[in-house]
Amino acid sequence: MIAALYTQGKGLRFGDAPAPVIGDDELLVRVEGTAICGTDVKIVHHGHRKLRDGQTIILGHEFVGVIERAGARVAGWRAGQRVGVAPNMGCGHCEMCARGLGNMCPDYSAFGIDRDGSHTELVRIPAAALAQNLVTPLPAGIQPQDGALAEPLSCAVNGIRNARVASGDRVVVYGAGPMGLLNMMLAAVSGAAEVIAVDIDDARLKLAEQIGATATINSKRQPVPQWVAEHTRGRGVDVVICAVPVPQLQQEALGILAPFGRLCLFAGWPKGAAGVPLDTNPIHYKNLVVTGMTGGCASDYATALRLIAERKINVAAVVSDVFPLSRVEEAYAAALSGKRMKVVLVAEAAR
Ligand SMILES: [Zn+2]
Ligand SMILES: [Zn+2]
Repeated sequence: MIAALYTQGKGLRFGDAPAPVIGDDELLVRVEGTAICGTDVKIVHHGHRKLRDGQTIILGHEFVGVIERAGARVAGWRAGQRVGVAPNMGCGHCEMCARGLGNMCPDYSAFGIDRDGSHTELVRIPAAALAQNLVTPLPAGIQPQDGALAEPLSCAVNGIRNARVASGDRVVVYGAGPMGLLNMMLAAVSGAAEVIAVDIDDARLKLAEQIGATATINSKRQPVPQWVAEHTRGRGVDVVICAVPVPQLQQEALGILAPFGRLCLFAGWPKGAAGVPLDTNPIHYKNLVVTGMTGGCASDYATALRLIAERKINVAAVVSDVFPLSRVEEAYAAALSGKRMKVVLVAEAAR
């Protein structure tokens, strides 16, 4: 089967991979739609700490598909059912796993990270994924290219919850890339009265406007603190989401928050980034909350699928390219160019 293969220390190649064989407690899922993530691009450039040198995996952790075959001992699932699969499997017995937070397990394993993923035709779903409720039936009517976005949306569900976005809030989102836009739409759905998009790219800000941002700031032309001071009469905003990996923005974000404001550091810094010294007095004097997030848990994933099915979040707005799986190499070229929004692969039959 066609696959995007990554070998630690060697890099990316496209080729033939043998179809996976499943055990009696496992599922075989035929991929219908799967997206390329910033994490995939990071792995191609820098490898991943969970991979051994020379280890090869099929990339891809954002996917939906249809059950091709269910193992003999698998109860409750059958061939032909459409499913979405959340990628992060925990060890199953630590404190985080006991709370259903596989994404927070120190010993997690994930599709397309340290085991074969979805940028191919068939994926083996191990028993642990079923035990941890990572497999969710797809609500009717979800298109494969939309369902593929449930995983990144689940990360935004996690981040927006941590930032406690509430009714009437003013929310600033730094970065109008795909994750920034998903955060903006979700902030609006969560009751934000104003959603202010910040970027240095006018085309992306235009997109932000189209998906409902109430204001846009090109921070190359206008300093954000000045805009916020004028627009809020010096009060500041309630929530800042940093969806762009620029350490310098941390200080700026603390400065534009109102008392009791919340900052979510949604994007991680590039590996080896030095970070910046931080004056933490704004946290002290303004009673701020600083939080972060990594991935989403099984219930965040189910929430994301529901939001897509109910058309509360228009995930299609953040997709710039849809390729058939046979053109996976072109799809990666587009994603690696860094100039696209979300790039999605779909099975030929699903187009
Ligand atoms: Zn991802
Ligand atoms: Zn665990």
